Amino acid sequence: MGKFRCRCGMGLSNHRIPNDVELIVYTSVEWEVINEIDSLDYMPEPKYEVWHCKQCDRVHVFKGSKHIKTYRVELIDEDNERENHVLDP
Ligand SMILES: [Zn+2]
Repeated sequence: MGKFRCRCGMGLSNHRIPNDVELIVYTSVEWEVINEIDSLDYMPEPKYEVWHCKQCDRVHVFKGSKHIKTYRVELIDEDNERENHVLDP
């Protein structure tokens, strides 16, 4: 990736390394395999790029350069757990 505009309007970028945008995500199974690797030189790249927007807490998932999913925060009303609220924008 490089740059992405979140739906809330926040500009996201992973140009600086390290950064607070890109999350390094592996499944537990993948992590077990990684723990068996002798050298970090052979560490596989994560299957997906996962970016977090600090402004709205959305999480964006990319496969290669293709944006494939966005996860949006829902708040649970503690007085009525069955009723969830979606944050806007
Ligand atoms: Zn956002």
